[in-house]
Amino acid sequence: MVVIKDKTFEKFISYEEILTKVSTLAHKINSDYKGQKPLFISVLNGSFMFAADLLKEIGLDCEISFVKVASYDKMESTGNIKQLIGLNENIFNRDVIIIEDIIDTGRTISKILEEFQSLGAKSIEVVALFQKPKSGLVREELKYVGFELPDAFVLGYGLDYDGLGRNLKDLYKLKN
Ligand code: 5GP
Repeated sequence: MVVIKDKTFEKFISYEEILTKVSTLAHKINSDYKGQKPLFISVLNGSFMFAADLLKEIGLDCEISFVKVASYDKMESTGNIKQLIGLNENIFNRDVIIIEDIIDTGRTISKILEEFQSLGAKSIEVVALFQKPKSGLVREELKYVGFELPDAFVLGYGLDYDGLGRNLKDLYKLKN
């Protein structure tokens, strides 16, 4: 159990389980993109651990870049992307794979997909480690999903609560 500020969190998914899942996702991508040179775009901050572990298992000729989106205020999705910053690559005609930590309402990823589409990517897929039930809206657009989570607040493995907890190795769930 960990206590961060006013909240208590219990261990939910171990780092070992996460790594097994990450490796399964990487193998699928390796086989689907055989012979291609995809451009991975990791959505910071939350996806930094996932991106690092995933890319270690990718055997393709590939590039990785990072963008940043601020859309989450403490424990509630504000629903509006404030900014998508740091996209320096020309993604025209590229096979893009967006690396997301967690999809909640799906609003963030929908906006990112829209933006990338308008920049003329050849193909765009999403690899998300976690997905919550609310994101049903975008389900058909998500090709690679690690874990389906219940509708609960989680932290660790890159995900924070008010800026804290990103360094935890395992995934934790808010204790009621
Ligand atoms: P959406 O736009 O899909 O509602 O929200 C996606 C973003 O909200 C994620 O990239 C992540 O930053 C944040 N988020 C959603 N659910 C959680 C959660 O349970 N814990 C944490 N720490 N962040 C979350």
